[in-house]
Amino acid sequence: MKIGFIGLGNMGGPMAANLAKAGHEVTGFDTASVSVEGVSLAATAAEAAAGRDVVITMLPNGQILRAVAGDIVPAMDAETVFLDCSTVDVASARDVAEQAEKAGLLPLDAPVSGGVGGAQGGTLTFMVGGSEAAFTKAKPLFDIMGQKAVHCGPSGNGQAAKICNNMILGVTMIATCEAFALADKLGLDRQAMFDVVSTSSGYSWTMNAYCPAPGVGPQSPADNGYQPGFAADLMLKDLRLSQQAAEAADADTPMGAAAAALYAQFVEDEDGAGRDFSAMLPRFEGRGRG
Ligand code: NAD
Repeated sequence: MKIGFIGLGNMGGPMAANLAKAGHEVTGFDTASVSVEGVSLAATAAEAAAGRDVVITMLPNGQILRAVAGDIVPAMDAETVFLDCSTVDVASARDVAEQAEKAGLLPLDAPVSGGVGGAQGGTLTFMVGGSEAAFTKAKPLFDIMGQKAVHCGPSGNGQAAKICNNMILGVTMIATCEAFALADKLGLDRQAMFDVVSTSSGYSWTMNAYCPAPGVGPQSPADNGYQPGFAADLMLKDLRLSQQAAEAADADTPMGAAAAALYAQFVEDEDGAGRDFSAMLPRFEGRGRG
């Protein structure tokens, strides 16, 4: 297939490289100066998008996605799949899809889980919103870039699935960290805490697979000085997206709101920016009740 790829950053770069390695003809564009193995570069986003079978975007946020869509939608041929893999707000995803549909394109919102390691290894999970026809056309590309693609329903539902999942993740990480900090103060050994909770009703991905306490459980960013991994800044971005969506949909999400407020404080007022999102544990350890 002829593929246009716009946004060749930490995630987009390796995803585009994997498509090229699999034998597709990939033309990329990024506003930063980048080079990606096997990918030829276009001078503009519109040039990267014109005459392709599929155009993929992997951009920082909804505002940038809307701006890029304004440039590329008019350049694309009818029936081209417009596959946005960025994590953006549900409203931007739905607006961009509507604009693309009006132009005769096949839009999909397909945010990913799996991080930079998953992008490099081709093991991402895609959560996909859009038509069955578009999903079927993009499926061979999901199989190259990832290990699983779930069709979640119409446009915007991929983003909805992503922010609901990450709201659970943010809330659960905070609960795991505050429980470890309490256990410390009660004199409970961390290994004992892990051994009990990881096999009891408090178990979770954050405890069992990504334990925030160093030296306990499988290797995680806690064992590497809380280098990300998944940065607290990105967790905050996703929690804000979930709160924005909850407000627009009139959904009651008090734990999500509390998690968003705590990560905002951690990233903006404390030392959390650039640290892994599990660095909430040393943050709680440094605090008493007052
Ligand atoms: P990144 O900042 O490394 O990459 C974004 C790229 O977009 C940059 O290279 C930037 O120069 C480029 N860009 C910005 N504006 C542009 C424009 N107008 N036209 C063309 N290119 C433009 O970010 P990333 O880590 O690759 O994340 C991309 C998306 O994936 C985000 O929405 C993020 O939330 C999501 N995501 C990231 C991770 C992760 O672990 N990094 C995991 C899951 C999802």
